[in-house]
Amino acid sequence: MSETIFSKILRKEIPATVLYEDDLVMAFQDIHPQAPVHFLVIPKQPIVSLDSISGDDRGLLGHLQWVASKVAREQGLSEGGYRVVTNIGSHGGQSVSHLHYHVLGGRPMAWPPG
Ligand code: AMP
Repeated sequence: MSETIFSKILRKEIPATVLYEDDLVMAFQDIHPQAPVHFLVIPKQPIVSLDSISGDDRGLLGHLQWVASKVAREQGLSEGGYRVVTNIGSHGGQSVSHLHYHVLGGRPMAWPPG
């Protein structure tokens, strides 16, 4: 996997507002928030997208979702609800080639997405 902006965030070479971090994952605020609360959850392991995971990654993916839920609760999103989305490839609208879950909340979301 090639170097991305998220690799630099993981190495603390560029700043980010980190909401959660452990040995496996990091959650940080999106720099261009699309909702009152918008953060990203990424694995530290370099995985391009959900399209490139293997069976060995199943535990990591469960952990990513657990962290998304934990931080969403801490951010006060439980009552109103929120959205978790991961974009995959060009049709999916992925701009950073490092797997990430967006967690968006604090306003009603429309469906279908654009
Ligand atoms: P995607 O388009 O699904 O690949 O999402 C990439 C996300 O990364 C976008 O929502 C960007 O705003 C966000 N992003 C890009 N650079 C940074 C950064 N330096 N810090 C935090 N979020 C970033």
